[in-house]
Amino acid sequence: MSRLPPALGFLRKWRHRLGGALAGAPVEAPPRLAVHRIENLAAYRDHIARMGQDAWVQELALADANPDKPFKVEGRCWVDDATVGFAVDYLYAEDLGTRRIPNWRERLVCPLCQMNSRQRACVHLATEYLRLGPDSRIYITEQVTPSYAALRARHPGIVGSEFLGPGIAPGSVNEAGLRHEDVTQLSFPDATFDAILSFDVFEHVPGIRKAFAECCRVLKPGGTLLFSIPFMQDSPVTRTRARFDAAGQLVHDHPPTYHGDPVNPAEGVLCFHDFGWDILDHAREAGFADATALVYRDPAYGYLGGWPILFAATR
Ligand SMILES: [Zn+2]
Repeated sequence: MSRLPPALGFLRKWRHRLGGALAGAPVEAPPRLAVHRIENLAAYRDHIARMGQDAWVQELALADANPDKPFKVEGRCWVDDATVGFAVDYLYAEDLGTRRIPNWRERLVCPLCQMNSRQRACVHLATEYLRLGPDSRIYITEQVTPSYAALRARHPGIVGSEFLGPGIAPGSVNEAGLRHEDVTQLSFPDATFDAILSFDVFEHVPGIRKAFAECCRVLKPGGTLLFSIPFMQDSPVTRTRARFDAAGQLVHDHPPTYHGDPVNPAEGVLCFHDFGWDILDHAREAGFADATALVYRDPAYGYLGGWPILFAATR
């Protein structure tokens, strides 16, 4: 028996080498939505060189046909299992000088579930790619959102939370029924969950390494943290926008930016990081056995915006 752990360790390494060899190729995925494993910036650039041009041409044509006015793109909402007209406008649009390109990631809003392209894809991948079933133990770092509602309909036992403020006991529930959790000090016991879902939250967490370590701790072995983040697709490294110094004072290394916060819409929430590809290294250093980007694109589902990226870190 004493020889077993090293043997298992070898198998684990071998499995990851195999995974590396398959990088960029469609991996085991739901039949209809192809998900590509991309493990570093070079592989991502290669993917875009091979498959990015068609996406760009298609999206430019859509924008050119509908300059500066709201329009609809027909497609299938996976969440509602219905064909709908996804609403696109020029909120958060990218300005190229002579024209603007819609922010496909944050628009393409379904008229039924009200979820944008990113949110629909996150729910889609969380269920199909992670192969989660009704009995899976799932934690999601949000509770007041359409994504939580959509996932709860499929996974009734899902646990959701919001960050309600500093100094609140992790795991406590307020009068409105909202659970407070801080991803750098979760209230859950070790090895509780099959999956953790965190969508556009980590950029607001100053201690990202601690957050990864905590997520790893409360996942069961083989469990996966699936997360989305605002991502600098062409940057090898993460840029720190803001941080707390040794004296606990907030320091801004770059002009502060705030994102929408469903719990606190009036103020928004500060962005601490602009993430780059070293996010995968941070996840491995925090204890995850495997960390990869997952890229997907499917106009039939209204998943546009080049090749959008999610991340998966498996304990
Ligand atoms: Zn929908």
